[in-house]
Amino acid sequence: MGALLEVKNLKYSTPEGKEILKGVNLDVKEGEIHVILGPNGAGKSTLANLIAGAGGYENPTEGEIIFNGKPLNGKPLYERARLGLTIAFQEPARFEGITVEEYLKLSARNNPSADIEACLKKVGLNPKDYLQRFLDESLSGGERKRIELASIMCMKPKLAVLDEIDSGIDFVSIDEIGNLFKTMRDEGTTLLVITHRENIANIADRASLMCDGTIVETGNPKKVIKKFEKECLVCELQSPKLVEGLNR
Ligand code: ADP
Ligand code: MG
Repeated sequence: MGALLEVKNLKYSTPEGKEILKGVNLDVKEGEIHVILGPNGAGKSTLANLIAGAGGYENPTEGEIIFNGKPLNGKPLYERARLGLTIAFQEPARFEGITVEEYLKLSARNNPSADIEACLKKVGLNPKDYLQRFLDESLSGGERKRIELASIMCMKPKLAVLDEIDSGIDFVSIDEIGNLFKTMRDEGTTLLVITHRENIANIADRASLMCDGTIVETGNPKKVIKKFEKECLVCELQSPKLVEGLNR
């Protein structure tokens, strides 16, 4: 199958001139779970934001992103969403005053076949207990992330970028999250899963290793994990970037 997403020689520097992405090349094939693995500070979130046009990252300094044959540079988040590209963040947003049901209905507005209760069940939440809950701090971080995944299931985008949705949560065994990702894939959503946990890469169809602003390898997940263990973890221990990354 062809590439759904192509990232070509993508560079990004902050307005202050700090070079964060140094020429990223990546292709994500339609129908795959593609994991990007890399240490803290490698530039993973910056890449995710540039792909989704999130957080003001609409234009790279150089290079381009092509989604489903269309160039994305300069397009705002909502336009990319309309094309079928969505992102879930490390810290899901809270929407005070909105119930889970209202939120999932909003997510499903372009997907008439969505079954909101079924989406909740698939992420392990009982609709009876959750539909009328509010999306505020009364929900735990893990519950918020599950709801975020349910929202993506209701939306059924062509491509979902998941930025460290696996980290810092109170639930999710690797098996559980792996099965969830596979369900999403089998229902027609291509997944770009960003993580710094090597065991998440195990569930990928393909994986890429990101290091210091570039993708250094793409291919078989086991091979990529090996390289990560051999090169990145060692490098990370000696790198001031780790400390910087952890403080963010
Ligand atoms: P990752 O998600 O892989 O941990 P990030 O993309 O968040 O990495 O960050 C990559 C590097 O760029 C880090 O060293 C981070 O501190 C730095 N960085 C990210 N955003 C900014 C910014 N707006 N200004 C300055 N430095 C930034
Ligand atoms: Mg990050």
